[in-house]
Amino acid sequence: MSAPAGDGPGPAATGAPVVVVGAGIAGAACARVLTDAGVPVRLLDRGRRPGGRMSGRRVETTAGVRVTDLGASYFTVSEGSAGGPGAGFAGQVADWEARGLARRWTDTFAVLRGRAADGARLDGTTSTGPWRWGAPAGLRSLVDDLLAPPGGVAVPLESGTDVETVEAGADGPAVDGRRAAAVVLAMPDPQAADLLPRMVATRLDVSARWHYRPSIAVYAAWPQRWWPDFDGAFVNDNDLLTFLADDGARRGDGAPVLVAHTAPDLSADHLDDPVAVVAPVVAELGPLLAGRPTPVPSWNRAHRWSLAQPYRQHAEEPFGLDEATRIAVCGDSWGRTSKVETAWASGTALGRELAGRLAP
Ligand SMILES: Cc1cc2nc3c(=O)[nH]c(=O)nc-3n(C[C@H](O)[C@H](O)[C@H](O)COP(=O)(O)OP(=O)(O)OC[C@H]3O[C@@H](n4cnc5c(N)ncnc54)[C@H](O)[C@@H]3O)c2cc1C
Repeated sequence: MSAPAGDGPGPAATGAPVVVVGAGIAGAACARVLTDAGVPVRLLDRGRRPGGRMSGRRVETTAGVRVTDLGASYFTVSEGSAGGPGAGFAGQVADWEARGLARRWTDTFAVLRGRAADGARLDGTTSTGPWRWGAPAGLRSLVDDLLAPPGGVAVPLESGTDVETVEAGADGPAVDGRRAAAVVLAMPDPQAADLLPRMVATRLDVSARWHYRPSIAVYAAWPQRWWPDFDGAFVNDNDLLTFLADDGARRGDGAPVLVAHTAPDLSADHLDDPVAVVAPVVAELGPLLAGRPTPVPSWNRAHRWSLAQPYRQHAEEPFGLDEATRIAVCGDSWGRTSKVETAWASGTALGRELAGRLAP
């Protein structure tokens, strides 16, 4: 969990905040815990909005303007994570559900195998697993809620702030020249490696060469639904697609929107030109789902994720904390599986660790 102390800086500079870089769910959860404990926090993100890989886009549909999830398709809650509010991710999700922010979507996905041209069809083959949860206002709304829960103290977010340097100094760490009590990098390893002092990256085993699977989300709307009922579909052995979601079913509003996540090789080949994959992916949907050509969509778009999910995890550690410099790393690669729950758990655990040291 933490690299050993060396001849590092002394106690936290009085009054300096903890600077959390990255307002995905890991950074938001970390900042939430620190804020609740009375520790001053600055939360910085380069994006215009928080959410990171739980982001979506507002789109016009025949059911109205809706937020389409383009990163994480859903989240799950581990069976071991039981209990009421405050008892881990299950408690957090129970609170979201009670306030109507999160909803159980489905426990059953269709399974498709191969390309439509080879005869693959939606044929009733399914796979049942854990509950998959969605959010009526898009998954990013859950990150928004962590940052500003009704009745709680809001975490101050500085969006549109692209952090360029993190330094370890004798008086403590600094972010772009401004002193911090501690620094948290809540982001994928290659992005953290770009910022970390070299010795810290080595001690925490965070590398720019840490490989991530890329993905392109192709999303499209139609005037009405033309596909048979399904919630989502795992698409195996298909060089175009890996997963398909009925976006309206996921949110619960029935909007006629589909989201397709492309296969890793295709994604890697088109990160510079994601729009090029839209036509072949949309053309595959009709034959795959309904055995006929795809009706012309009202609109279609693509969103690229160059670092979608890591191929390798820091499986045994919930976060990395370099004691010598008080620089830490958290996110979805810190745990057994890269997913929303892991990112929340990583940020929460790091927030508790830092609050235990820094809370007034
Ligand atoms: C296509 C796709 C499908 C997925 N499907 C699922 C799924 O079905 N279920 C599931 O549970 N999970 C899924 N995931 C994974 C899930 O989205 C992630 O595990 C989770 O959202 C990671 O959260 P995080 O806070 O660790 O990182 P991120 O959400 O990546 O947050 C990192 C933040 O750091 C910011 N940042 C980075 N560098 C800087 C900098 N220098 N300065 C300022 N800000 C910076 C970024 O802007 C970003 O907001 C999917 C992800 C993708 C992309």
